[in-house]
Amino acid sequence: MLDTHFDTPANLGRQGWNIMDRHDVAVDGSQVDYPRMVAGGVDGGFFAIFTPQGQRGPDGDLKARDAALVRGLEIHEMVAAHPNEFEIALTPDQALDIARRGKRFVFISMENGNPFGRDLSLMRTFYAYGVRLMGPVHFMNNELGDSSTDPRGPEWGGLSPLGKQFVAEANRMGIVLDASHASDGVLDDMLALSKAPIILSHTGSRAIFNHPRNIDDAHLKALAAKGGVIQINAFSNYMIAPQHIPERDAAFGALMKKMQAPGKRTEAETIALVAERRAIEAKWPVPRATFDDFMKHMLHAIEVAGVDHVGMSGDFDGGGGLDGRDDVTAYPKITAALLKAGYSRDDVGKIWGGNVLRVMREAQALATDTAR
Ligand SMILES: [Zn+2]
Repeated sequence: MLDTHFDTPANLGRQGWNIMDRHDVAVDGSQVDYPRMVAGGVDGGFFAIFTPQGQRGPDGDLKARDAALVRGLEIHEMVAAHPNEFEIALTPDQALDIARRGKRFVFISMENGNPFGRDLSLMRTFYAYGVRLMGPVHFMNNELGDSSTDPRGPEWGGLSPLGKQFVAEANRMGIVLDASHASDGVLDDMLALSKAPIILSHTGSRAIFNHPRNIDDAHLKALAAKGGVIQINAFSNYMIAPQHIPERDAAFGALMKKMQAPGKRTEAETIALVAERRAIEAKWPVPRATFDDFMKHMLHAIEVAGVDHVGMSGDFDGGGGLDGRDDVTAYPKITAALLKAGYSRDDVGKIWGGNVLRVMREAQALATDTAR
């Protein structure tokens, strides 16, 4: 069982937070750690090197590059510190072998291509770092292409000329392309240009809730026709219409400012901020997506794309989570729901990782240059 988008590496630099301890999401906000992966039957997943889209231009690019290098190092340090529990995987066969030996496999992915700036030779650096899945954009447009959520709208009309080279480079190295967060135009370009199938590592169905972070049925069919896979997201605001209460939004805005303040926080300070968040949520409650909402997105995607083209990612530690199902220990409930919906154990195996590993295998088989 695997998940294609853990933002958990963002927690690895927290002082006093250890992935080997069992945490409580209600207390410290974290949703993935070793004990909870074991409890949820999670064999491994893609641990993301995420860099927020900051200022564009040389200064911002270098900042993103350095942040990504540090984050990647933290992932390697985490694995090195717990060699009996975790192991880095570079290929599907390695992941399966690691799981067979009872350890959790750690694939490394990148969410946002801004660490490359305008220098795609850095893709090779990150490939050597173990990255095998890359998405070009996050919330905002960048040098590689358009985001689905940039308030200024499309800038390139899809991938930029550099973004097209990014696709060719990824194909050359056998890195799987990830179109989550990308605009429809970028997805179209990737489907047209990529020699290998692509994935959406954490995305929902637009037919169930119309949001630019979700994908419509026509694109879902095109993704599947190319052999690709959508991994269904569990991010509440993209699953159901969020309700806005002005006082609540203002309080959250103020809290976000505190959370984004520069400098390192102690774990006690982080726990205090989580408590503040819970207090805001309790004072101005709004509906959160339920498990049933999540299953609607998943079952719709399976209906449209077919069972060979759907998987799962909770976007945990990156804003994901459902009402009452707020960490990786909830995964067996998805298995039960799929079996109840009439899918076979074989189908469930595909959804829980078989499909993604197939795409990886295809992308890696097409690689023409894997030299480090
Ligand atoms: Zn994301």
